[in-house]
Amino acid sequence: MSVQQGSLDQQWAKVRGRLKDEVGETAYRSWLKPLTVGDFDGGQVRIMVPTRFMRDWIRTHYADRIRALWSGENPGVQSVEIVVATSQKSETRASEPPASEIRASEIRAPETRAPASGPAPARSRARAVAEPALDGAAAAVAPSAPAYAEAEPAPVAAVGGAEEREDLSAPLDPRFTFENFVVGKPNELAFAAARRVADASAVTFNPLFLYGGVGLGKTHLMHAIAWHIRRKDPSRRVIYLSAEKFMYQFIRALRFKDTMAFKEQFRSVDVLMIDDVQFISGKDSTQEEFFHTFNALVDQNRQVIISADKSPSDLEGMEERLRSRLGWGLVADIHPTTYELRLGILQQKADQMGAKIPQKVLEFLAHKITSNVRELEGALNRIVAHAELVGRAITLESTQEVLHDLLRASNRRVTIEEIQKKVAEHFNIRLSDMSSARRARAVARPRQVAMYLAKQLTQRSLPEIGRKFGDRDHTTVMHAVRKVEELCGTDPAFAEDVELLRRMLEG
Ligand code: ADP
Ligand code: MG
Repeated sequence: MSVQQGSLDQQWAKVRGRLKDEVGETAYRSWLKPLTVGDFDGGQVRIMVPTRFMRDWIRTHYADRIRALWSGENPGVQSVEIVVATSQKSETRASEPPASEIRASEIRAPETRAPASGPAPARSRARAVAEPALDGAAAAVAPSAPAYAEAEPAPVAAVGGAEEREDLSAPLDPRFTFENFVVGKPNELAFAAARRVADASAVTFNPLFLYGGVGLGKTHLMHAIAWHIRRKDPSRRVIYLSAEKFMYQFIRALRFKDTMAFKEQFRSVDVLMIDDVQFISGKDSTQEEFFHTFNALVDQNRQVIISADKSPSDLEGMEERLRSRLGWGLVADIHPTTYELRLGILQQKADQMGAKIPQKVLEFLAHKITSNVRELEGALNRIVAHAELVGRAITLESTQEVLHDLLRASNRRVTIEEIQKKVAEHFNIRLSDMSSARRARAVARPRQVAMYLAKQLTQRSLPEIGRKFGDRDHTTVMHAVRKVEELCGTDPAFAEDVELLRRMLEG
């Protein structure tokens, strides 16, 4: 060692003083105060930090400046190395004097251990929680904003215990495994990507971005990845949670002025999965935080897995830089189910339930319930439960009866074209008259009925309906709807006609 430790400490005290003036009190307290000087060797000063996350942050944001200031004090200093001080144990902390009593010569060690002056690894938090923060001033300064660099380190006492902190991950559904996932054309890419990420020992695609409509298996696949990794290598820290919960945790950290601990927790995981990331669209500070967490993890080569209901580029209310970053890895979409996939899923679920269900019934369900897998499962559960309750075998008839409301709802997805066709047939007019300019009552009334039914039976808006009827204005459609309602109230025969048409269209 070419420089005495005493003078090294003195130099560091000066460098810190300068830094403090430059960066301001808050950033200083958060980032620089916890640093201690290690040794000086071959022109290199080693600076110790308590955590890996801080090391990375200091390296990218302050190391150059520290080096510059230090060589100003001592031209022999050519470089600065930031290292994590692993040997320091929190056990020793109880015997330390309060921060205010620490003399200059003792500045090195104690400060790294004070919980109020920097993030500590989550596991050592249990102790910190039991003890009041040493640095009263630190506790009094609130973070001015969720801004990254200014976050104030934790007056940890306010937050929950160690168990709660470790329990960041939401519970995993034991049924959501790869084995239970039925693969078909619509989800084969997503499945293959999920398997690859779960099997790989090194990070392959980062992030893996899964997207698709509701109930198509995104959450199932994410849980399956988590189960698989946890089983294969229990030492890897896998965290799965919804974007909503992420936001909730973040807001709580802000409220308890605990954002450092929050950051540290998320940045120390091996695999981070965030489900339904669209939830944080438009929620700017959560997005900002998520973005930093995301970058920190990807930069450290940790696996990140995201799901959403849309592709990265279609996520409205998401910052452009985040959207583009989300698309850097592998983007895999899950398409709406096909008949074959639905049938496969039904067969598997029926087997799992140990229920005897005629093939005809499964086929019927696969035909009729097309919205998503969750509804399909719900239907199956219902007919099985019903059969058990009344003690009768499952038949096509009983299925139709039990699922009456569901089937009606799914049948209600008629198109405007079908309505026009049926109504034209019923009133014996030409289909082209649905969009023609003719105003004779004989064609105008049926046209109004068709518009009315389009409004009732489809999700189309008034302007959309108007367009399908020879580019008519939405006010025309509105008028038609009112007229038909009025007539139904005054003319029972007419009302019957409309009701009959409705039932025919609903199937
Ligand atoms: P999402 O998260 O995309 O909204 P989920 O993963 O929650 O959908 O899936 C909804 C339900 O459908 C779950 O019970 C899931 O197990 C089931 N499911 C979806 N896709 C499949 C599949 N391919 N094989 C088996 N079950 C599936
Ligand atoms: Mg989901």
